[in-house]
Amino acid sequence: MPTFVRTDKCDGCKGQDKTACMYICPHDLMKLDKDGSDTGHAMKAYNQEPEQCWECYSCVKICPQQAIECRHYADVVPLGGSVQPLRGSDSIMWTIKFRNGVLKRFKFPIRTTPEGSIKPYEGKSAANMANISKSGFFTQTNGYRVGNPAELIRKK
Ligand code: SF4
Ligand code: SF4
Repeated sequence: MPTFVRTDKCDGCKGQDKTACMYICPHDLMKLDKDGSDTGHAMKAYNQEPEQCWECYSCVKICPQQAIECRHYADVVPLGGSVQPLRGSDSIMWTIKFRNGVLKRFKFPIRTTPEGSIKPYEGKSAANMANISKSGFFTQTNGYRVGNPAELIRKK
């Protein structure tokens, strides 16, 4: 089910050219309605093609105002319940609200190194972008070996 924006919480990412939800959506669905001509809510973002949303939750997680919510499937989250994340720099807190009002919170780590410190090629040679269209682009230069049929597990 698609996401929607709570206009009472969205601050339009303070008028930046590209809002956090526009930046993160892999499907390019989020849009800032600068003058309110699309929705009647100026400087609020909205999901411009809800039927194309695949509920990846990226926009829900990145929104600094917690202004984006997801309409859940009834068999996952019954009417009146909600599942809302709050992302920190090293963890994410999920708040589960049951329809009888009970709240539960779960906090999970989301990374093991400080932000911006990851070394994607550590111990490996960097990918050669000239070979990006060839098969084995990265793996063949970094420890790839040809499969051995004798190692396959077969049904007897
Ligand atoms: S990320 Fe949140 S606050 Fe920023 S424009 Fe999108 S919905 Fe509004
Ligand atoms: S849930 Fe994913 S696909 Fe849907 S609007 Fe948000 S970022 Fe885009």
